[in-house]
Amino acid sequence: MKAIPYGRQSIEKEDLEAVISTLKADFLTQGPKVKEFEEKFADYVNSKFAVAVSNATAGLHISVLALGLQPGDRVITTPITFAASANCVRYGGGEVWFADIDPTTYLLSLESTRRLIESKPKGFFKGIIPVDFAGLPVNLEGFRELANEHNLWLIEDACHAPGGYFVDSQNKKQKCGNGNFADIGIFSFHPVKHIACGEGGMVTTNNEKLYKKLLSLRTHGITKENMSENHGGWFYEMQELGFNYRLTDIQSALGITQLAKNSAGVERRNEIARKYKEAFKGKIKYQSLPSNCYNAHHLFIVEVENRLKLYNYLREHKIYAQIHYIPVHTLPYYKKIGYQGADLNNSEKYYEHCISLPMYPTLTDEEQDFVIKSINNFTV
Ligand SMILES: *Cc1c(COP(=O)(O)O)cnc(C)c1O
Repeated sequence: MKAIPYGRQSIEKEDLEAVISTLKADFLTQGPKVKEFEEKFADYVNSKFAVAVSNATAGLHISVLALGLQPGDRVITTPITFAASANCVRYGGGEVWFADIDPTTYLLSLESTRRLIESKPKGFFKGIIPVDFAGLPVNLEGFRELANEHNLWLIEDACHAPGGYFVDSQNKKQKCGNGNFADIGIFSFHPVKHIACGEGGMVTTNNEKLYKKLLSLRTHGITKENMSENHGGWFYEMQELGFNYRLTDIQSALGITQLAKNSAGVERRNEIARKYKEAFKGKIKYQSLPSNCYNAHHLFIVEVENRLKLYNYLREHKIYAQIHYIPVHTLPYYKKIGYQGADLNNSEKYYEHCISLPMYPTLTDEEQDFVIKSINNFTV
């Protein structure tokens, strides 16, 4: 059996052809493919607008700025996420506060977040960044209600969840990143995520003002919107300090062919998850699935008693499981500045036991059987 990673991209003939034909075309960046990718992506997640960016971290950065983050502003997120969900607040000079996770879904707990917010005076916090962790959609309806009560903005870090959805209290299907509850949604196209562009990201929103602000911040704060007949074609204005966070046409071409396969990929991921659950039911704890949610399954996470031993045992069998994540508030940088927030017992306990098993659409039945057999052999 060859090595089995926890996640991997799948690049096929149509992906290669799309990239090569873009390389032969007139534009390598800022050409027609970026726009096409943005439109197709917005269509896929049911948002009004989408802005392609160089990576999701850049997307998070311009999102907090577009929402008006000022130095000293306090924002709440989950410790069980990739550091970038918190780092964006630091880029803008804000303070990161952490609330705890739910011990069964591993998602930022609405109750813990509410308790943290209500323990402080009104206006203390400015925003919340919940994460659709492992691909499981966060309860955005509840977070929206809380955000409205306290006048907070909401960024949905949906990096794990393109194609995931929840069914809301009106019985409506709400796709991750659709912008109906959160002000902004964020996606990543790092190869280990669902859609591989090498590097890349997408910011989605239904708010036109935010959309325009995001476009401006992505490209140096430059706009041609005040151009009139008195100006030559070269006219532009730099109205604010922005960045170069653009995605290239080459990457966008790849993104378009990858996106076309995402629904099938998510279905396959769910098939793999069902098989893991059948094998582990009653024996090994795994991430629970609320009845109104469809998990996009970036990851399949179990909790085990002797995690380090299992991790090493699997490696000996060339199964490269991974840990998601070391709690952000325990990382040396955050420890040094002194994290602030709620009691984070659930997050810390989760981290002691969690391990992410191989989960990607091209994982074969035979490979998955081998993973399951290896885990069963370890626990007996
Ligand atoms: C991967 C990831 C990011 C950052 O994505 P990049 O495209 O690598 O910048 C942010 N948040 C979460 C939850 C992620 O998994």
